[in-house]
Amino acid sequence: MSAKDLENLQREIASLAKRQGDLEDVVLEVMERRESAQERVTELTGRVSSVQAKVDDAVARRDAAVAEIDAEDASVTKEREIVAASVPADLLKLYDRLREKQGGIGAARLNQRRCEGCRLELDITELNEVRAAAPDQVVRCENCSRILVRTTESGL
Ligand SMILES: [Zn+2]
Repeated sequence: MSAKDLENLQREIASLAKRQGDLEDVVLEVMERRESAQERVTELTGRVSSVQAKVDDAVARRDAAVAEIDAEDASVTKEREIVAASVPADLLKLYDRLREKQGGIGAARLNQRRCEGCRLELDITELNEVRAAAPDQVVRCENCSRILVRTTESGL
């Protein structure tokens, strides 16, 4: 090997060594970025799990509330059927018609001379009519047409 060949070989070795050093730096940087990305993935996975747990909890509470409402609805519907069965058919028909027309309230208590359906106080003529009516006679509010339910608190 000539002195020139040796010189060339040494230059090539130095160049390769530098190239190796550069590549090692690149590998190091890539590994650092990979590690940082992995940390971010772990953090985001944790947040997703936390949000999912909250969603699961909300869904479970919603389902429990719906089940409770369904049960109450079934119970109230059954109670209403039992009560409705004891009411004369024509009175029930009148009540249902009034209920539909008057925002869900077909009958109201007469309390201290006041219709609790429309909150108006009955005048003396109306009160006298109610007083004169037989206990089983259906009396209605002249203002809102609702069936008036007489009690000991009616003020008659
Ligand atoms: Zn009324």
